[in-house]
Amino acid sequence: MNDELALAPYAARPAGSPGRKFAEPAPGSRSEFQRDRDRIIHCAAFRRLEYKTQVFVNHEGDLFRTRLTHTIEVAQIARSVARNLRLNEDLVEAISLAHDLGHTPFGHAGQDALNACMADYGGFEHNLQSLRVVDVLEERYGAFDGLNLMFETREGILKHCSAVNARTLGAIGQRFLDKKQPTLEAQLANLADEIAYNNHDIDDGLRSGLISEAQLAQIDLYARHRHQVEQAYPGISGRRAISETIRRMINALVVDLIDTSRERIRQVRLDSVDDVRNAPPLIAFSPAMQTQATLLKQFLRENLYRHYLVNRMTSKARRIVTDLFTAFMAEPGLLSPDYESRDGDTTSQVRKVADYIAGMTDRYAIREHRRIFMMDEL
Ligand code: MG
Repeated sequence: MNDELALAPYAARPAGSPGRKFAEPAPGSRSEFQRDRDRIIHCAAFRRLEYKTQVFVNHEGDLFRTRLTHTIEVAQIARSVARNLRLNEDLVEAISLAHDLGHTPFGHAGQDALNACMADYGGFEHNLQSLRVVDVLEERYGAFDGLNLMFETREGILKHCSAVNARTLGAIGQRFLDKKQPTLEAQLANLADEIAYNNHDIDDGLRSGLISEAQLAQIDLYARHRHQVEQAYPGISGRRAISETIRRMINALVVDLIDTSRERIRQVRLDSVDDVRNAPPLIAFSPAMQTQATLLKQFLRENLYRHYLVNRMTSKARRIVTDLFTAFMAEPGLLSPDYESRDGDTTSQVRKVADYIAGMTDRYAIREHRRIFMMDEL
């Protein structure tokens, strides 16, 4: 949405922004946040999302979500809600498209393994790594490292952050210390992420056969909409019934989020983004919907994310990440010169190893593991 007049007073605007770290001429034919969105789409880390695990590893099947298709679904949901609430669609799209750029290969298993490896060196947080990708690691522009994004885009990318790390980040970390809220666009991207993965993980879980519709009958959010589908189309079954149910669930969550957030915003009377920062979180589900969403999340945790076949993949992923980290730390000479620290300092070397591993796609990590540990792979 480019029309500034259509934005609500509490929407983020480039005009009131702290802007970019390195000053640049104003863009001619697009808004500042559109420029951020475009920079994100053109960066290398964005392309890597195609080969990074969401829940199922990329080679397990062509129809499962990858981190790239997950990201596109998040952006779609976030934009719909933003338009309804008259928030800045360009900003919410930029944040959504960048929100998972710092994820390691193999999803949460990879992130937990790398975090454990980095325990003595400040740990590894994927949100912080996403910020590091756009602030430091991308090498695309002559004038600066990273993508030089707007403050609000970077703030939205840094969804969570430990107090220890927040203290080292300056202005972008300050809200975690002051316990203030980010823009409504950032709050929205966060919940759009939740709507996207809860629903697509049911879809992928059913498709994989690891969970069943019979199990989902105990989950009210699913059962209620499945019943509606049966009423509307008696005898409907299979993939069509599942898709029709899931699209209704997404719609119910989106409508609830819009209505609840609109009402919460109305109650506190916001005149500016500053008011947003000082208010409690305002983008939210109704308590009833929140309860249902939490039950669904619990169901997925117990029945899908901890399914023994998923555990096997998780275990392999953990071993690959840990093996690679251990080998590179013991023998930095195994690293290409791009990832060797020039100053010989351990902390900067270890961070380079983490950057290298975090940047890997699933298949690259599997191949690199073979190259390092197997004689038949060079
Ligand atoms: Mg996500």
